[in-house]
Amino acid sequence: MAVRAEAAFDAWSRERIGAFVDEVLAPRAAEFDRAARIDTSIVGEFAARGLWGAVLPAAEGGTGAGMTALARTHEEIGRGCSSMRSLLTVHSMALYALDRWGTDAAKSRWRADMVAGAALGAFCLTEEEAGSDFAALQASARRDGDEWILHGHKLWVTGGQLADVLLVFARTEVGPAVFLVDAASPGIRRTPVTSITGTRGSQVAEIVFEDCRVGADAIIGPAGMGLAIATGVLDIGRFSVAAGCVGILQACLNACVRHANSRQQGGSLLREHQLVQQMISTIATNTRAARLLVWQAAQLKDAGSPDTIMATCVAKQFAATAAVAAANDAVQLHGARGCSDDYPVGRYLRDAKVMEIIEGSTQLQHVLIAADACRNQARVVDVD
Ligand SMILES: Cc1cc2nc3c(=O)[nH]c(=O)nc-3n(C[C@H](O)[C@H](O)[C@H](O)COP(=O)(O)OP(=O)(O)OC[C@H]3O[C@@H](n4cnc5c(N)ncnc54)[C@H](O)[C@@H]3O)c2cc1C
Repeated sequence: MAVRAEAAFDAWSRERIGAFVDEVLAPRAAEFDRAARIDTSIVGEFAARGLWGAVLPAAEGGTGAGMTALARTHEEIGRGCSSMRSLLTVHSMALYALDRWGTDAAKSRWRADMVAGAALGAFCLTEEEAGSDFAALQASARRDGDEWILHGHKLWVTGGQLADVLLVFARTEVGPAVFLVDAASPGIRRTPVTSITGTRGSQVAEIVFEDCRVGADAIIGPAGMGLAIATGVLDIGRFSVAAGCVGILQACLNACVRHANSRQQGGSLLREHQLVQQMISTIATNTRAARLLVWQAAQLKDAGSPDTIMATCVAKQFAATAAVAAANDAVQLHGARGCSDDYPVGRYLRDAKVMEIIEGSTQLQHVLIAADACRNQARVVDVD
């Protein structure tokens, strides 16, 4: 499996992505974090490498390289900058929903621009009452002739400050529904959310919809199917976040190895101390394990297997938990330097913590995984 996954990544993107992350993205991550915003020139850099549309099949502007290549790509972006990986995640979720369930009119209005990064997407599900229990959503959509009128208050919208198009979940009289809304529509008010623990460059916003009118073609899938669509879209988000967590793990490993190979204490390099070795060994082991779980989920997606949903939950739960532990150890291994902004490991820890909360918290993943295990008698999923 590992060899095939690497081959798929090689065929599509190793040169394009690996060098870009090392030379362009990672060196700017601290600046985006400090400024709590990205430099929009990076949007064009992503577009030049086909990243904004990579989630789609080749015929619709994607790469055709498959989900393992997508996982390796989101891993690499996560290794360089979790804020950009978060922006890429929510954009990919909105684009995936448009492509899979959108009307022809909405596709011709948005898809090419979203693939090109000329229109960025965001995902608006969470509200005051609707957090982990997203079925509790209160935002509403009322039919008025050929239009829908949206009301509601969405919280924690990644990319909400800069998005051009919003995937909005709202109640209708027949149940939850999903709309793709032009962010420039009248009746939309955005307020930046500042001082977030991690992914500070991801330009999170609160968004209020008041008498916001959208055309009938803005609906994504049938009214009443909103929760099923949310589940499908969250699966893509979880997959991307899990891959991004592998990137954080790899970044922690790289930083720890660099430091342990250069810092001397007690007359020897840190790497000679067995307790330091244990930290490095644990991070290295968890990096490999998390990566393989993500690739398993990817292969199941490529095979069209419904088992991918649970494989993605498992990968996300493991990778996010391991990323927090690895980043915590990485700070520890760097001593006082780990607490300084001159080193990236403190940012890795803040970013990793966010990963345990978004796209279904770690506890929610445990609830889903345990329910599945009990239902299926802990069956083994086959991948060749
Ligand atoms: C930086 C950042 C970016 C985000 N971006 C987006 C975005 O782009 N779009 C969007 O819609 N949302 C976004 N969110 C919101 C995120 O999805 C929610 O925060 C998440 O779903 C959890 O909801 P909550 O914060 O209301 O916590 P709550 O649901 O109130 O949960 C609080 C705690 O209780 C636990 N808990 C809740 N229910 C259960 C249960 N049934 N069993 C066990 N434990 C439980 C949770 O695990 C958590 O530890 C973002 C959040 C952050 C921090």
